[in-house]
Amino acid sequence: MGGIVAIVGRPNVGKSTFFNRLIQKREAIVDAVSGVTRDRHYGKSDWNGKEFSVIDTGGYVVGSDDIFEQEIDKQVELAIDEADAIIFMVDVESGVTGMDEDVSNLLRRANKPTFLAVNKVDNAQREADATEFYALGLGEYYSISSINGSGTGDLLDALVKELPDVVEEESELPRFAVVGRPNAGKSSFINALIGEDRYIVTDIAGTTRDSIDTKYNRFGFEFNLVDTAGIRRKAKVKEDLEFYSVMRSVRSIEYADVVLVMFDASRGFDGQVQNIFWLAHRNNKGIVILVNKWDLVEKETNSVRDYTKKIKEACEPFVDVPIIFISVLNKQRIFKAIETAVEVYKNRSRKIKTRELNDVMLPIIERKPPPAIKGKYVKIKFCTQLPTHYPQFAFFCNLPQYVRDPYKRFLENQIRDKFDFNGVPISVFIRKK
Ligand code: GDP
Ligand code: GDP
Repeated sequence: MGGIVAIVGRPNVGKSTFFNRLIQKREAIVDAVSGVTRDRHYGKSDWNGKEFSVIDTGGYVVGSDDIFEQEIDKQVELAIDEADAIIFMVDVESGVTGMDEDVSNLLRRANKPTFLAVNKVDNAQREADATEFYALGLGEYYSISSINGSGTGDLLDALVKELPDVVEEESELPRFAVVGRPNAGKSSFINALIGEDRYIVTDIAGTTRDSIDTKYNRFGFEFNLVDTAGIRRKAKVKEDLEFYSVMRSVRSIEYADVVLVMFDASRGFDGQVQNIFWLAHRNNKGIVILVNKWDLVEKETNSVRDYTKKIKEACEPFVDVPIIFISVLNKQRIFKAIETAVEVYKNRSRKIKTRELNDVMLPIIERKPPPAIKGKYVKIKFCTQLPTHYPQFAFFCNLPQYVRDPYKRFLENQIRDKFDFNGVPISVFIRKK
């Protein structure tokens, strides 16, 4: 993990082309496994081994041309507040525009690592044209072509140097983040949970960024809530900007151990919520799904069962995740939600001894070995849980290249079946021995 990068700029300068280039590979992998609609406006990327989240702010511009300018200014301001670094993209074909100058003025006043990317520099002539962007007063720029990739390496080299190393520490206390779309009931939930100040133990101001962990002691559990300040502050933001809530979600997910994905039962587990769910999954965080406003749903005999089934279909293949039906309004199952989050936290920290793991898994593998491919037999000899902060397992064998995804999923499911990793993404690696 390495923070959040926001790509800002006018429409049509090439932001989404560049964004797609950044997240391409990873998204393709996720799609193959989950089969869900891909999220186009934010994703994970990595460069030189450093991972970071990218947000294409262009995906959030709504409205007609005459309000574009205002919208973009607003997004730049949000990006300045929320991102760790900003890529400001301009277009060499159109040259410096008034809107570029406005954005530059905002960025110059901000104290945020900013990278001016002059896009569409597809050839040497345009390289010369790009110099006019010095006039923006942002200093050095990177001339790039998002289409053919030239120059993007230098830009990314410089970018990742400025990104914080977010090393996930073993936290003493579970760190929970409550995320979801605007109006899901997040702030109500937190208020209901901890509403009275006496449950707050300490406010720990984030060091380099403005996230705030607040330590609570409630229902006999001690935990930190990530970014409650952000949620509280949000109540003051008049418009419920989806972009803002995405920024917040990305940030708090990165800092959490367990993500409580909350949505409004009367609106359903829609695409935006699924994006948040998959983002938490991709970040290997523990997950609890909270179906809020259950009081609004007309109940028939099988409501919970049918509803659960629908959610699980959307979560395929990661279905080993707790789903709790709550009503913050009626204070229904709020305790259960926290209790479950604590369990998921424990599951995520679970370390299976190598001896025990082999005793359980090797006989299973013996009974159902990987299918032979081109007459070659794979022999898995040994497995171990890696000493990482979330569950990763390595299986050692003679021919790792012949072990395919379905068999890896089989191994994962067996691990889930035999040990409790409810709510926790697991990685399975096949290595050469
Ligand atoms: P956005 O509105 O800023 O997200 O811009 P898009 O990524 O949608 O790109 C707008 C147009 O510019 C599209 O037609 C792209 O194909 C084109 N474009 C993007 N990057 C480049 C580039 O590096 N060179 C050229 N020649 N065209 C580009
Ligand atoms: P946030 O934007 O996710 O922080 O959502 P809020 O906590 O501001 O809640 C949005 C609206 O939903 C408010 O009017 C709440 O009173 C309402 N709300 C929250 N939880 C429930 C619930 O369990 N049932 C019902 N009926 N309304 C709720």
